[in-house]
This record gives sequence, structure tokens and C-alpha cells, in this order.
Amino acid sequence: MTDFSPVTADDRFASRQALIDRYTNLIPRHILGHYPTPLLYANRLSKELGKVELWFKRDDLISFGFGGNKIRGLEVMLADALSQNADWLVTGAGAQSNHVRATAAVAAHAGLNCTAVYWGKPPASVDGNFRLCKMLNAHFHFTHDDDRASVDSHILLVADKLRQQGRQPYPIPRGGACAMGVLGHVLAVFELYRQCLDQGLEPDAIVLAVGSGGTYAGWLLGIRLLNLPWKMLCYTVSREPEQVSQQVAGLATEAAALLKLDWTFSANDAPIYGGFIGQGYGIPSSEAAAAIKRVGRAEGILLDPVYTGKAMAGFLSGLQNNYFESYKKIVFIHTGGEPAFFVGTGDWLDDGHTASE
Ligand SMILES: *Cc1c(COP(=O)(O)O)cnc(C)c1O
Repeated sequence: MTDFSPVTADDRFASRQALIDRYTNLIPRHILGHYPTPLLYANRLSKELGKVELWFKRDDLISFGFGGNKIRGLEVMLADALSQNADWLVTGAGAQSNHVRATAAVAAHAGLNCTAVYWGKPPASVDGNFRLCKMLNAHFHFTHDDDRASVDSHILLVADKLRQQGRQPYPIPRGGACAMGVLGHVLAVFELYRQCLDQGLEPDAIVLAVGSGGTYAGWLLGIRLLNLPWKMLCYTVSREPEQVSQQVAGLATEAAALLKLDWTFSANDAPIYGGFIGQGYGIPSSEAAAAIKRVGRAEGILLDPVYTGKAMAGFLSGLQNNYFESYKKIVFIHTGGEPAFFVGTGDWLDDGHTASE
């Protein structure tokens, strides 16, 4: 079934490389991490699972600002912001957002100000990503509204106010989900493709945790650009699957337009698995706790309870139910998120506990 091209003197390889060169040149990027991030075979875990060979793409090891997938999107947004002479990044999400922490680090590095817009009220304890944002000197703005979507209008309000004060704000949508950011994840697809060629790996499927959808949109667009036979196995950790598929398709379409491609993605192009959110976004589930322990104890690789732990729980359940029988080689994108380990008491990891804030 696979038409994945081999390493040498192959037409499709040549044309894929030409596409990579062309689109890499079109995408502005202010590189902050060291790439490629490692692509590592999970020897003990694969043996234990028995059914598939599993690799981890270690975007948790992106060497900037505690890493994670958000850095890739921000590298493109920063290049765009600097080209517009922006002096202030404004973005938002929840107080434990990896995206906001990554944005605060990017702003610090570039000598820009940063305002973090958080839904709800200031949290009782200053830990995890929120602690890091404080240390990085981000300005905070709380919406005092528990609706997560309240962040969207407040980001625009904060940006307007800054403009009135003579500043040049660069607003970044909640979670970093915007067409510019999507392009950063297209570059991740190029990176993994090159790495697979070098390692002689022909993956059948890619596993990804999905929040606001920008990362998945980039993978969809990148895979279509290179015409790769990779299937995406994606797990939503926050919204309902139908809503996420719409959002991802819209973002992929917008990002394609930035590359002057008149391509439309529909929700059908962006399938997503539900059922592993547990009690809600950001609340650890017992399945995620079990998956985190399993991966940690087999490989010494640390997944997070908000994103990758839930995606791994979904993937392991799918494996157990024989959903993926045609897939033999699988790459799990480790998108980061470890600061969540340092929030609260961590009692969700104890056996017998199902969930806690
Ligand atoms: C944000 C995030 C994701 C999901 O990325 P989206 O682009 O929001 O879908 C996955 N894993 C981690 C650790 C994240 O911080």
C-alpha cells in the first residue's frame, strides 16, 4: 500500500526534495531550537506492545524555552512579527498553557514585551507554566470569565489598548492556532521526512495529541504537499472531535493560501479520535496516568498529563482493540508539556486516583 520513496536516485525523492526546498524558502522562520529533534526507536515499549514498532519524535527536546511543539509555530510567527516591527506579543489560553509559556520565552529572547491573557481568575498557586511565565516577566491579563473562549476577545482588546498607547502589538490567537503558526508545523513534516529517509524508516502512521489544532493542520498540509502515505492518528484532548476537525481543516486551508495554494481541506480530511479527554481539558485521566507510567517505566520518556499522556492512552487502547492492524511502523510525536508535572500535588499519578485539578 505504501508508495513511500526509498533513499536514493528516485524521481519522487528528487521532486519531494525540490518541494521541500521551495516551500522552506517561502516560509519565514526565526530559528530558536536545534533541529532536527531526535527520532528514537522505543525498543522496550515496542517489544512489550508486540504489534507495532514505535518511534518517538522528540519535539519535547526542542532546545528552547522548555521546548514542545509550540516553539515551531512561534518561530514562524516571530519572523512575521519582526518583519512588521512588532514590539509586543499578545496571546492567551489557560494559566498552565505551554503555548503562553513558549510565547513568553520567545518574546524575552527577541527583546519584545509579552502579555499573557488567561481565562478565569488568577490561580491560587504559582506553579508549572504559570511560574515560568512570571519569571519570564510576562504581563498578565485575566478575563475573570471561566469560559475559555473569553480569551479570544480579550486578546484583541489588549492589543487595541496597546495600539492606542503607541505600541505595535502582534496578537497571536489562543493556543497559537493561526495560519502562520501552521507553517511551522509544515516544516516539522519536512524535517521528519528527511530524518526517515536518513534512518531508512517508512512510517505507516503518525500519532498526535490535538488541542487547538494548529499542529495537526500543519501535518495535514505538509503530508499533502509531499504526497506522503502517512496516516494521522490524532486524539483530541479538549474539544469535541467534529469541532476540532472543522477547525483543523479551516486552518490548513488558510495556511495553504499563505503558500499561494488554492487548496481546500474539509473536516473529512482531518479525522480525529475522541473519548480520551476524561473529565475535561487539563484534568489528568486515569488512562493517561497509566499510559504515562507505562512509557516512563519502559523507556524513560516523560509524557505529560494534558496532551501526550491522553494521546498515548488513546493509541494504546486502539492498539488493544486492533484498530491499527494495517500499520506496522508508527511515529508518536512527543509534543512536550512536561511543566504540567510540576503543578499541584501530582496525586493523579497514584494508583486508585482517577483525577484531580
Ligand atoms: C499545544 C500542545 C499540543 C497540541 O497542539 P495544538 O496545535 O494546540 O493542537 C500537543 N501537545 C502539547 C504538549 C501542547 O502543548
